[in-house]
Amino acid sequence: MRPLLLPALRRLWRDHSTLQLGLDPARAVLLCDLPPGAHVLLDRFDGTTDLAEILGVAEDDGLSRDDLTHLMGMLVGAGVVVDAAAGTPLPAALDVGARHRLAADAASLSLLHGDAGGVLARRHDCMVAVHGQARLAVPLASTLAAAGVGRVHVVGRGVVEQRDVAPGGLSTSDVSQPRPAAAAAAMARAAPQVDARPLPPRRRADLVILAGQAAGDTELVDRLISAEVTHLVVGVRDTTGVVGPLVSPGRSSCLRCADLHRRDRDPLWPAVAGQLARAHRGHIEPQDTALAGAIVGVAALQALAHLDGGAAAQTVDGTLELALPDCRVRRRSWPVHPDCCCRDIALRRTG
Ligand SMILES: [Zn+2]
Repeated sequence: MRPLLLPALRRLWRDHSTLQLGLDPARAVLLCDLPPGAHVLLDRFDGTTDLAEILGVAEDDGLSRDDLTHLMGMLVGAGVVVDAAAGTPLPAALDVGARHRLAADAASLSLLHGDAGGVLARRHDCMVAVHGQARLAVPLASTLAAAGVGRVHVVGRGVVEQRDVAPGGLSTSDVSQPRPAAAAAAMARAAPQVDARPLPPRRRADLVILAGQAAGDTELVDRLISAEVTHLVVGVRDTTGVVGPLVSPGRSSCLRCADLHRRDRDPLWPAVAGQLARAHRGHIEPQDTALAGAIVGVAALQALAHLDGGAAAQTVDGTLELALPDCRVRRRSWPVHPDCCCRDIALRRTG
């Protein structure tokens, strides 16, 4: 074992024998009654020195073998020391620049998961396609690429218009350029290492994101459901940003489930939904720039939560809604509807 005291944790000595590791009350650890010499010893927990070697010099630091064993037990038990020898190295394909750009993400991931290299290696192998409104789709794709997702493709056509320009996305210099190439260039500005090519046809996407009106593309949504591709919806409804649901076909509620729930509450919903699917002459779709940025961030977090595995994202069987003017956040629950065909997938899977 090569002990590594997580470098992402700030070390704050409260007195000569009490060490606080980290700042956030939810994660910070307080180590009390540390023996003299612990200061020096902790510097040796840098992930490069074998534990046996540290044990060999512990007495030079004024610590007995028992002191060291006790200290190691406390640190490992608190999850603040990991075995650097057991950690997953970053993907070899990442060059020095990418490693430096991802250093802050890796530090954050080390606090969440311990093995940041393992999470970044998984992200590097992931493939994500983003459909829909460029003002949301391109900043979101750029965020995922910058967070280490290896292959991200923005599906689009036509040329860039002024209304597509957004912070972190397409720029004014992209106007009149073909959208797909401009989106790839925007991602490369944030993450030159990203592979922005279209996803290979035989490889199921790890996630498809539907931004804005793309969620109303019933043909696309039906294809995703039948191919059992996980998809996430993000968009703006008047002055409220909506992220979710994150649909894992057969495992969680889908867009049709939400539609059926609305129909149950409002018998005239089908007439409204039919009109919503069509463009309305003279209508300017409202989308506050700051709100768009906020939902891009929230959607990226939900996407990464799915790609990284672990606890279920909050948008599974629900939506997160961010309302102007002060970005009040609420979660709405959208369970599976008993009449929805997505239940067939679940039954097929279990049967
Ligand atoms: Zn459903």
